[in-house]
Amino acid sequence: MSVSTSRAGDRAFAMVNKPIGREQELEVIAREFRRYQALRELRNRSALLGHELVGWIRHDVESISLCARCGARLYALTDSERIEDGEALTDPCPGREPVDLTRVP
Ligand SMILES: [Zn+2]
Repeated sequence: MSVSTSRAGDRAFAMVNKPIGREQELEVIAREFRRYQALRELRNRSALLGHELVGWIRHDVESISLCARCGARLYALTDSERIEDGEALTDPCPGREPVDLTRVP
């Protein structure tokens, strides 16, 4: 397994490169897609409270993020069992009106 990192503007990326068997390929892709959907849904829910997440830091099936404006935390475990926690999902972001997602293109 190898990890490579890169930077684009104010964003940093890390890519894990590890060999998987052909028979695992669809399972891995399906799992990553479910994770992507779960994190997107969490991002939208936190945005309804006015938070603006800075991105996700990930370790295996666990992901964490922070609000760029108030530092509210969000923790997610995206596996067969799903756990989500943090004030970014429960407390309104101080200092700005919540985002109206119906107006986001
Ligand atoms: Zn916030």
